[in-house]
Amino acid sequence: MKTLLMKGKPVADAYREIISAKIAAARAKGVKVTLAIIVVGDDPASHVYKDRLVKLVESLGGEAKVLELPETATQDEVIAMIKRLNHNRYVTGILPMMPMPKHIDGDAVGAVITTSKDVDCLNPKSVGEVFLGRSRWAPCTPRACMATLAHYGIELKGKNVVVVGRSNVVGKPVALLLLQEHATVTVCHSKTKDLAGILKTADVIVAAVGVPAFIKPEMVKKGVVIVDVGINAVAGGLVGDVDPAVADKAGAFTPVPGGIGVVSNMMVMDMLSRNL
Ligand code: NAP
Repeated sequence: MKTLLMKGKPVADAYREIISAKIAAARAKGVKVTLAIIVVGDDPASHVYKDRLVKLVESLGGEAKVLELPETATQDEVIAMIKRLNHNRYVTGILPMMPMPKHIDGDAVGAVITTSKDVDCLNPKSVGEVFLGRSRWAPCTPRACMATLAHYGIELKGKNVVVVGRSNVVGKPVALLLLQEHATVTVCHSKTKDLAGILKTADVIVAAVGVPAFIKPEMVKKGVVIVDVGINAVAGGLVGDVDPAVADKAGAFTPVPGGIGVVSNMMVMDMLSRNL
């Protein structure tokens, strides 16, 4: 059996073509696409992510407006900034980098982003829309999982899908999106009993655990489709939540790096161009 390597780049490239054409058509009519990125403090990962997004949005013909606040900024200051951006008609998307410094409640910040500019589904109203089956505003990483599965022609209807992880940003929303595609979904977490037994029943596994190489070959059945959301920094570089040895048993799998992460960033751009 040949294993299908579900790389992120071809998925992102397909979206790139559509998004840049939309942005170019809008520009021709005098409409600009501008992503406001808010970074509070000096978290290195946030700055790396911000730089990547700036490059990406510019490469698609859009613009980025980076707003940096010091680590000492208050929650009220961040919220006031977002409220101003909500009313700024030149700003089409708003993305605050998470996590915020400890004294700032990221949920409270996300909740003030107006839904039409909420590119990563941080406002509870956007989350509610996803719950009701209107996936238009789902967060970027779950949408990246779905886009990847669709791109590689993975059938979900009636399939047993096991999601490992129940975070608000990945596990829970991806479970809802899978349900909308008529999969039978099981969500596992740190208190799940007999995880290996449940994983053995899975036709598709979505791993969003945050533990390097957590899912081992003996935990999965032959031919399983693996979507590895995990991005874990280890001594040798970046690894996913699934042991690379699982690839030998899998029917299809996403690599780390070069898998879901690549598509996630493009999903931010997809959201940004949604209203064009
Ligand atoms: P998170 O908020 O830390 O959630 C991790 C989830 O895994 C929790 O629900 C937790 O269960 C569960 N878990 C932890 N240990 C477990 C165990 N031993 N057995 C079963 N379940 C366990 O993480 P996250 O934000 O969802 O991110 C997950 C991974 O995806 C991370 O590696 C992160 O870096 C990566 N990520 C990637 C992208 C991307 O674009 N590719 C985007 C976001 C995140 P409890 O709820 O019981 O604690």
